[in-house]
Amino acid sequence: MSNTAIPLSNEITFADLNLAQPLMRAVADAGYTHPTPVQAQAIPLVLAGGDLLAGAQTGTGKTAGFTLPILHLLTAKPVANQRPGRPRCLILVPTRELAAQVEESVQTYGKYLPLKSMVMFGGVNINPQIKALRGQMDILVATPGRLLDHVGQKTLDLSGVEILVLDEADRMLDMGFIRDIKKILALLPKQRQNLLFSATFSDEIKTLADGLLHNPGYVEVARRNSTVELIEQSAHLVPQKLKSYLLAHLIKHHDWKQVLVFTRTKHGANRLAEKLNADGIAAAAIHGNKSQPARTKALAQFKDGTMPVLVATDIAARGLDIDQLPHVVNFELPNVPEDYVHRIGRTGRAGSSGAAISLVDSEELPFLKNIERLIKREIPKVAVDSFVPPANLPAEAPRPPRPPHGQRRHSHTTASAPRPAGAGNRNQPTRDSQGRKPGNPQQRNAPQPAKPRQSPKPDDQQHLSEAARHQSMPQPALFSPKSGRRGK
Ligand code: AMP
Repeated sequence: MSNTAIPLSNEITFADLNLAQPLMRAVADAGYTHPTPVQAQAIPLVLAGGDLLAGAQTGTGKTAGFTLPILHLLTAKPVANQRPGRPRCLILVPTRELAAQVEESVQTYGKYLPLKSMVMFGGVNINPQIKALRGQMDILVATPGRLLDHVGQKTLDLSGVEILVLDEADRMLDMGFIRDIKKILALLPKQRQNLLFSATFSDEIKTLADGLLHNPGYVEVARRNSTVELIEQSAHLVPQKLKSYLLAHLIKHHDWKQVLVFTRTKHGANRLAEKLNADGIAAAAIHGNKSQPARTKALAQFKDGTMPVLVATDIAARGLDIDQLPHVVNFELPNVPEDYVHRIGRTGRAGSSGAAISLVDSEELPFLKNIERLIKREIPKVAVDSFVPPANLPAEAPRPPRPPHGQRRHSHTTASAPRPAGAGNRNQPTRDSQGRKPGNPQQRNAPQPAKPRQSPKPDDQQHLSEAARHQSMPQPALFSPKSGRRGK
């Protein structure tokens, strides 16, 4: 699908890239007029056969940036008598959703070519995958855990891999996949082309790249931080226990048709989806503890507009390519300011005006400050005068503690199940229900904010919305340190 929100390269055309005719036809069918910057830069480097280190994230067109030249190279150099279950290209990705999306792209761009692809991830029955591996397969898109399961069962032969792609490598490391990746690398032929895509370049990524890539070409396209200006951002300051009511109000009041809501924990995502459903708003949660069919169904319903609200954790939402997303809500602010940028980058992706709304409890104000520092702009604090909080609030379960500022909660750590001591110790890996192992959470150089306040300052109280002031609330229902626009 064409995405007009991403910047296109006006000087370079697809014709300049010397891609095979069947690929040019597929590109034209997809409605692409010009390559995106990452495509314009990466495609010639990959076609030349060299290794590549690319700084690009979802939404930049990176998938076509590696898929198109890979399809070209594999077609240009066909292999006689290719054995079943022996891919020529391996694309490793962190999540099931990204795996499905990347393989869909391989099919889209390769539709006029005789090459075959397959997607492989955990959480689903392994037998259909085993059956598929008995047929021809040129390109394999896989998550690391399930791939190693197949290697263990000897249903997959990696000795014929000519091209390796690590997509969203930073997220794979965040998710603790480094040991799996190392195991997989040891199974590949030494002589091969390596492409590494990552949104960020931590020391861990640099170490991985140093060990993996030989004389790599380097491509970096603008991080989403630079496109933040295009997104209308606002924050509603609201106590945690009122957030679900305010969100339901905003959705109903403004008749939002498609809103992606980020929560901090899987538990929180479930709870919020349940509350919204109880309030008559169709919503589903999507996270690592959900079965794959449930995740696929929720995503499909969200994409086709039959379910207006998708509640997701950062990891689950990462890599989802959802066009025309008008609203993103941060039900809780992320600890890592960069995650805010990733989250809100999901709006306005197709030239439509996007709005990113954050519901911020007073305890989260330091996180808001960190985010504002990162994006170098103040996020308007907006009171929602039309919101009347319920008079009798049911008691809330206590919230789980947040990890320290700047640290990411592990994707597979639920709110109710703190990580066991030593779980992040590389010498004692423990696998979660999806067969993933924990790694060390990435310590970011996040500025250390002031200690969070436990309750809003008296100053905040002056900005209580009218409606809230008339309620006998134990805490202010909404407070707005700065006057701003009306809630979206
Ligand atoms: P990606 O970053 O690979 O997830 O791609 C994001 C979106 O951009 C997808 O919906 C692609 O279909 C779309 N896209 C990729 N390349 C182009 C292009 N050259 N022109 C317009 N849209 C594109």
